[in-house]
Order: sequence, then C-alpha cells, then structure tokens
Amino acid sequence: MEKVAIITGASRGIGREIAKSLAKKGIKVIANYNHSKEKAENLKKELQKEGYEIEIYKADVSKKSECKKLVEYTLEKYKKIDILINNAGIDKYQLVTEVTENDWNEIINTNLYSAFCMCQEVLPNMIHNKKGCIINISSIWGIVGASTEVVYSISKAGMDGLTKALAKEVGPSNIRVNSIAPGYIETDINKDVTQEEKNEILKTIPLEKIGEPTDIAKCVNWLIEDNYTTGQIISINGGWVIY
Ligand code: NAP
Repeated sequence: MEKVAIITGASRGIGREIAKSLAKKGIKVIANYNHSKEKAENLKKELQKEGYEIEIYKADVSKKSECKKLVEYTLEKYKKIDILINNAGIDKYQLVTEVTENDWNEIINTNLYSAFCMCQEVLPNMIHNKKGCIINISSIWGIVGASTEVVYSISKAGMDGLTKALAKEVGPSNIRVNSIAPGYIETDINKDVTQEEKNEILKTIPLEKIGEPTDIAKCVNWLIEDNYTTGQIISINGGWVIY
C-alpha cells in the first residue's frame, strides 16, 4: 500500500504546499487544519480536479486530546502512518516584557507541545512497523534567535531538541527524525512585514530572493525518499543564516 502521511497545519502556506506535493506522488495524505475550514476544503477540491485524493481533518493540535483523535482517525482509515510532518505554527512579535502567560502557552503549545504530542501518538504504530519518517518544521530563529520573537525562538529551538533526542531514541526502530528550519518564506505568517522591511531583509540574503513554500516541500520530498539522514537540522534559507 502507498505511504500514509499526516501533515499538521496544512490548510495554508508551507503545510498546504507539502500536502499538495505528497498527494501528487500518490501518498495518502491527511491534511490537518484548525480555523481555515474553507481553505482546507478548497485544497481537497483543487486536488480532486487534478485527479488526486486527500483527506482533511480538523484538529487543534495544541491540545493533546485532539492530536490523539487525529492519529486515531488516520489509523482507522489507513491502518498505518509512515510520515508525520509537524508543521502547524504561530508567531507573535512582542517585547519579552510584554509576553503574558497566555501568549507563552499559546505559542509553546501550538508550535512545540503539538509536535511532541503528535510524535507520542504516531510512534507506537511506527515502532510496530519498524519504519517511519518524522519531519519537524522549525525555523532559523530556533538556531540563531530572533529579537521580539523570544517565545517563538524558544519553541523552535525546542523542536530541534526534540528532533535530536528522538532521532537517537527511535533510530533503532528505523524511524528517522529531522528538522527543516526555513528562513523567510512567502506565507501569511509574514503578512505584517512591510515591503520596506522585506527589501531590507533581501539585502542580507546571499541568494537575493525570498523563499517559496515549494522550496520547503522539495526538501520534505527528499527527506522522505532518503534512508540515512536523521537527527539533522536542515536550514533552507537562501544563505541568510549560515552556521
Ligand atoms: P501560515 O501560512 O500562517 O500557516 C500556518 C498553518 O498552521 C495554518 O495552516 C494553520 O491552520 C496552522 N495552525 C496554526 N495553529 C494550529 C493549531 N492549533 N492546530 C492546527 N493547525 C494550526 O504559516 P507558514 O509560514 O505556512 O508556517 C508553517 C510552519 O513553518 C510554521 O511552523 C512556521 O513557524 C514555520 N516557519 C515559517 C517561516 C516563514 O517565513 N513562512 C519561517 C520559518 C518557519 P488554520 O489556518 O486552519 O488554523
């Protein structure tokens, strides 16, 4: 049977592009969404028109109980999970002194706790099958830190920590765990960045261009096909951050 993939936060942006590219390869995709129901339905319709199938499933992955339901639904439908892409994420620009407990919980739960819970839920099946590929979409800010995005940077550094530790723990079960740490990618998450700010950023990117969701999807596709890469943080950023 074809591979089965869960992608969190697949209604828009990077997750949507990953979902499209995997579905077009014949992979059975469960595209998770939370608020953007219409966009998720449009994704399904768009792919159907081109002759590809995809399942959409609403879950707020910041909550463990909803991660559990998402995985249960997938297992009921396809009996196995080969690929998990932890992509759902949010950001907030604020001074560290302005961060409330609510902000902390919202960002950490959406970006980091969701990834942890999703791994916990899919791993029994992957371990049983002695096969799996987990990809955490982190960020360059988890590597080098971003001013006014302290909690976001912590959440993404946490995802990279999860990648490294889990890669060691589940490697013997033939499960690979990697992070893709994007730089600046053109999506809604950057909708408040002005053209002027974007021009300034562009001056500091050696490849002199802003990334597209397809740049991340290509790396996901490569990681899925690969056999020997695990525990790595692969940064797709046009050379913006070289470490
Ligand atoms: P985006 O266009 O804003 O999309 C975010 C996605 O996350 C949406 O599909 C949204 O779904 C989903 N989401 C948010 N909270 C969720 C929740 N509680 N449960 C389920 N889904 C949830 O942003 P993007 O740029 O594609 O971001 C994707 C990932 O890449 C994020 O983790 C982000 O941090 C990371 N990243 C992006 C960039 C960049 O420059 N774009 C750079 C580095 C890292 P709904 O709308 O359905 O709620």
